[in-house]
Amino acid sequence: MKFEDWHTHNSMCGHAEGIIEDYIQYAIKMGIETLGISDHFPYEFYSNFEKIPYQGYAMTMVQVEKYLETIDDLKMKYRDKINIRTAFEIDYIQNQYIKLNKHIEKFKNKLDYLLGSIHILPSMKGLWTIDDPLLKEEYKISYNSIDEVYEQYYKTQIEMISNLEFNYNIVSHLDLVKKFNYFPENPKIIMEKVIQVLENIKNRNLTIEINTGGFRKEVKEQYPSFEIIDKIYELDIPILLGSDAHKPDEIAHMFEEILKTLKKIGFSQLAHYEKGKRSFVDIN
Ligand SMILES: [Zn+2]
Ligand SMILES: [Zn+2]
Repeated sequence: MKFEDWHTHNSMCGHAEGIIEDYIQYAIKMGIETLGISDHFPYEFYSNFEKIPYQGYAMTMVQVEKYLETIDDLKMKYRDKINIRTAFEIDYIQNQYIKLNKHIEKFKNKLDYLLGSIHILPSMKGLWTIDDPLLKEEYKISYNSIDEVYEQYYKTQIEMISNLEFNYNIVSHLDLVKKFNYFPENPKIIMEKVIQVLENIKNRNLTIEINTGGFRKEVKEQYPSFEIIDKIYELDIPILLGSDAHKPDEIAHMFEEILKTLKKIGFSQLAHYEKGKRSFVDIN
């Protein structure tokens, strides 16, 4: 099967290696069919961000035009070799999505899709990045337990999904909270929350990303867990694959293995995006 990888970064965000063209060339070498360039959208216009090292999280607003131009040029240059898609990974930050919308609106006609993520939750110090290794222990200051973090995370997911003013296509790394091997003490209660999240995703007709980035983190498994993937299958929610590559050679990482398992579960198709429109390709 020819792979499609819908979640990749590059050096513009400040914490990934290699320029966009390095990723494209590696993908061509690997025989990848479609590569989504989906770097982190800027954070600098948000408020309450003073306490988090967001400068290393994303490109700046002045770089956005350059990012889009570069992708356009490379689409042309490599058009006979690979499908390239233009995207951003955007964050849902409570009460601040209007600021983001205002910026995204300007570039909307250039985009093939948007990945919607939650990396940032409220804390005593303002805001806190749940997956930043530097802030890994921070949750203990603002939350009484890891379950509280999970509750807050999934509550925010539901808010993001039901907020029709927050436009995006794909829910990324759905159970990211587990990244550092933090698991809930009451998994049953948390799973009930997850089911609510999935029902909301189903209602809004979004796609869920199966993200293999987790294999390279402490948790050593994909996001989301197989328990959640089983529910996704039951609810018949579309999925696609993302490696979350922060280095060119992480493209399509573990795709062969994960596809085998997805097929065993029963999935027969993966979602595909172009100019905001979703279609499907068969898994074979
Ligand atoms: Zn990143
Ligand atoms: Zn992410």
